[in-house]
Amino acid sequence: SIVVTGATGHLGRHVVRQLLEKVPADRVTAVVRDRDRAADLAALGVRIAVADYNAPESFDGVFAPGDRVLLISGNEFDKGRVRQHTVVIDAAKKAGAALLAYTSAPSSLTASLADDHRATEEVLVGSGVPYVLLRNGWYHENYTEQLAPVLEHGAVVQAAGDGRVSSASRADYAAAAVAVLTGEGHENKAYELGGDEAWSFAEYAAELSRQTGKEIVYTPVSTEAYTGILTGAGVPGPLAGVLAGVDAAIEKGELVVTTGDLARLAGRPTTPLAEAVAAALAG
Ligand code: NDP
Repeated sequence: SIVVTGATGHLGRHVVRQLLEKVPADRVTAVVRDRDRAADLAALGVRIAVADYNAPESFDGVFAPGDRVLLISGNEFDKGRVRQHTVVIDAAKKAGAALLAYTSAPSSLTASLADDHRATEEVLVGSGVPYVLLRNGWYHENYTEQLAPVLEHGAVVQAAGDGRVSSASRADYAAAAVAVLTGEGHENKAYELGGDEAWSFAEYAAELSRQTGKEIVYTPVSTEAYTGILTGAGVPGPLAGVLAGVDAAIEKGELVVTTGDLARLAGRPTTPLAEAVAAALAG
């Protein structure tokens, strides 16, 4: 089977839906924490397995020999993601999985956000399980799903200077994962994935202005000011620090990916930012 963890997450849902365009539903397993939230996936005919990265025993029987697994990185920053991911890698190894693909971060990214990914990659590469490192760049949706305050204030406030980022849509990264899970010859490869075009926040603000007909400007701020704005808006301190660290990385160019791996794996150009903006504005 093809087994997808984090299947009720944003990326996971894209992956499951795109898999079903290529393989029969009875060959797909969705690993979820909460069966109730997977009712729509079950209705598509995929097998549902309930397991939690925090509970190793919950993975007993989830994987079978020859399975191809997509481990979608977790989002519980305070629970030791490397330990969590290791639970899945160990279970896949024990079961004799044929392939384990992991959603990592670009090798150019030095921000603290990347630490768990680097450490997980090390565990995976050392495990002996045939692996694929899907080093996903930034999502368009990180911005386009946060438009309300931008439209309200007429300002894109970031701490990234003139830095550029080659983001792509979650659907694009899902297409790359599906290509790896259903294709051949990807064993023990690392792919640096990002959108075809890098853009700056000034360009993003200009695109928002064009599409809304309102004046929206980019207001670059310092890392300290940005951290303060985020905590003031209710973002917990540690997460605000992580997000400010990402902006500093963008300023340094660490989220520009120029390999073309994403479009190559997806078999089509990546989604333009303008398209993601239009979709978000259409609601
Ligand atoms: P989501 O937050 O939508 O999905 C995260 C998934 O991980 C969810 O399905 C969640 O389960 C699952 N998960 C978290 N903790 C556990 C656990 N203990 N046991 C089992 N499953 C768990 O994120 P996205 O789908 O948008 O992105 C996928 C991952 O990519 C993120 O988790 C994060 O690591 C990373 N990311 C990448 C970004 C980028 O720009 N490249 C931006 C943001 C995150 P449940 O559905 O039950 O909550």
